[in-house]
Amino acid sequence: MFCYQCEQTAGGTGCTKVGVCGKNEDLASLQDTLIFGLKGIAAYAYHARELGYHDEEIDSFMEEALFATLTNVDFDMERHLELLLKCGAMNLKAMELLDKAHVERFGAPTPTKVFTGTKAGPGILVTGHDLLDLYELLKQTEGTGVNVYTHGEMLPAHAYPELRKFPHLVGNYGTAWQNQRSEFEEFPGAILGTTNCVLIPKETYKDRMFTCGVAGLPGVTHIKNRDFTPVIEKAKSLPPLPEKEGKTITTGFHHKSILGLADHIITLVKAGKIRHFFLVGGCDGAKKVRSYYTEFVQKVPQDCVVLTLGCGKYRFNYLDLGEIEGIPRLIDIGQCNNAYSAIQVALALADAFGCSVNELPLSLVLSWFEQKAVAILLTLFHLGVKNIRIGPSAPAFISPNVLQILQDKFNLQLITTPEEDLKAILG
Ligand code: SF4
Repeated sequence: MFCYQCEQTAGGTGCTKVGVCGKNEDLASLQDTLIFGLKGIAAYAYHARELGYHDEEIDSFMEEALFATLTNVDFDMERHLELLLKCGAMNLKAMELLDKAHVERFGAPTPTKVFTGTKAGPGILVTGHDLLDLYELLKQTEGTGVNVYTHGEMLPAHAYPELRKFPHLVGNYGTAWQNQRSEFEEFPGAILGTTNCVLIPKETYKDRMFTCGVAGLPGVTHIKNRDFTPVIEKAKSLPPLPEKEGKTITTGFHHKSILGLADHIITLVKAGKIRHFFLVGGCDGAKKVRSYYTEFVQKVPQDCVVLTLGCGKYRFNYLDLGEIEGIPRLIDIGQCNNAYSAIQVALALADAFGCSVNELPLSLVLSWFEQKAVAILLTLFHLGVKNIRIGPSAPAFISPNVLQILQDKFNLQLITTPEEDLKAILG
């Protein structure tokens, strides 16, 4: 942990202010949390701006918050916490802005079945979050015989009418970001990385990989001005993909789709047919302990519904959990860029039941990894949401004191085992 007063590693051998650093570790923790939250906001705001949407208040907060990290060295825990909650509020605005930009440009997502095999012919695999890049690529590949596949975090694209109208957007290939290196190696076509989470490529596919926009990788050709000609030419020059069967997964439960079912959901809850909702979502990573989330979903009782979003879902989105009187027991809202929909669902259900989000039969079990996950957590704190479970471990930049404060204020909890957590939640 870097100490902002000593300008040393806090408590390290060069630390000359023993006794002060104990406090500085917390200051560093709060400032790191803020900076990670700002990175998350920046990701949402960037995509919105690319689509022609921006918000002066968000821009102004970014300046204020970044400036505060170099000016506000006077340690005041409350003041820093207020700044974190404001970061959460601004992230909510940024997510709302991006959702508006996506819906107005590409139409409101609706539940969509997505093929996960391959079609015979040349193909391009697109990863990242930039739907505008995907749209431009789909336009430029029209009539060329080149098929386009989404990878991992690009899965929700299939649910937007203006994207799925292209018949050569044929399916989703692969899973979460940490599996990219093996999945990209296996995919025989060209590959395009539009944003994070993209990994340094292996030599085996580096020459057929491209980046664009903010993404960049060493030794990989970078596309400028959304002219994807080199990607398309590369795909045509490679051996065609084989016809390969795949299962079908469903995504695209935007809040408007879910809220269209609100009356039925409320009736089922009041009749005791749906006992509880679990939002099991967030990022994914390579650690084995993340199998917790698969086991958790498998052990959720039959009278409960699982809402999900983000890369964590690839650990269980192939499961057939069935339905409760027409309501799917596994509802995929989308990726990290669709977290706004999950929040809208929770707020609308609380409104319909005449209670707070904390009083709903809803528990949040989140897996964190990347900066957007930090920003979303701050948004949930800003909304006063309590009893969130996160895992697989506390973020390394959260100091023990800061974790304690978040536990005291919001009853933030770390995951334990699926059995113990389910028992604690359901009783
Ligand atoms: S859900 Fe998390 S890990 Fe997955 S793409 Fe989004 S930020 Fe990256």
